[in-house]
Amino acid sequence: MALDKKAAELLSRGWYKERLEEGECEYLLSFRDRSPVANLAVALADRLNRRACTGISQICAAIAVATGPCPCDCGFCRYGESRTKAKFYDVPDAQLSRWIQEIEAFADVRQIMLMTTGDADLNGLTHCIGLVKDAAPAGTQIILDTRDLQPEECRELKKAGATGARHARRIGEGQDTRLKATDRLQTIDNLVCAGFAVTAGIEPLGPEHTPAEISQAFYEILDRRCCHADVTARVPVVGTKFNAQGELNPARLTQIKAILTLASSWYNQPIREAFSGTFVTGTNMATVWYGDEGIADAPKQNMTENARRRLFNAGYDRLLRPDGNVTELDLGYLKRTGSV
Ligand code: SF4
Repeated sequence: MALDKKAAELLSRGWYKERLEEGECEYLLSFRDRSPVANLAVALADRLNRRACTGISQICAAIAVATGPCPCDCGFCRYGESRTKAKFYDVPDAQLSRWIQEIEAFADVRQIMLMTTGDADLNGLTHCIGLVKDAAPAGTQIILDTRDLQPEECRELKKAGATGARHARRIGEGQDTRLKATDRLQTIDNLVCAGFAVTAGIEPLGPEHTPAEISQAFYEILDRRCCHADVTARVPVVGTKFNAQGELNPARLTQIKAILTLASSWYNQPIREAFSGTFVTGTNMATVWYGDEGIADAPKQNMTENARRRLFNAGYDRLLRPDGNVTELDLGYLKRTGSV
């Protein structure tokens, strides 16, 4: 089947790092997943990312350090206070230190992300940053995923030792959440101004979201001097109005990520590392999850062994360490680290 001419032209412009406008991105998103246009987009974006990260992969360990019923009550979230089964939970110091030791047993996890619900106590978060700094290898990047922040709060967290932050301007902000889209975007700007390497979240994508909604959300964060965009699907939560809408098909998520990768291929990240990949996070980053002790039906933890194997299976043969050196990600390394 011949490719749609306009789509082929737009994909080619993305490949050659020309800026695509919001309407053009929306046009590409209007094709079905697994269509010829979608398949070409996925192949081109994957090549762009592998070239940008020079074949080097990374692991991020995300740790929920402070969770519980959240007064922000976002309509899609399992911590929303009106429906959650979660109890208040602050990770004990000894548990956090144990996790860091377990995560960094082979000193090959570059990023540790500390996550809280939307009413975080920043003193507690600062304390956790200190514990990670003490327990993790030198050079480990400490990333925060927390509530909206004022400029002064961002500076304090940076001073405490955090290097990066993830913050999302969610689709449906202000309607499905009690938070204001302007405050979310202002927090992203505050984090950037304080010197954080910021990853902006495009989420929580569901099957009902239109190409126009996805495009609009992406272009809102594109020119904010963030280093990355993390595109994630909504996790269905029983008791939410979104549960009946179901989950985004993984092939559609891959297609959306690919098109956003091509649409932003021209973008120069403000804090650029040779191995960091394209603006939209690609398959070179594997995230594993720790914590969530406060919720009864929390998903099982995925360990770093799975992450190494996932990266190996995806064809990456090098893994970035906290100190900036790379390790060969071959079968021997998988065996030595208990990953096979
Ligand atoms: S602010 Fe975050 S933790 Fe709180 S309800 Fe919303 S998504 Fe959930």
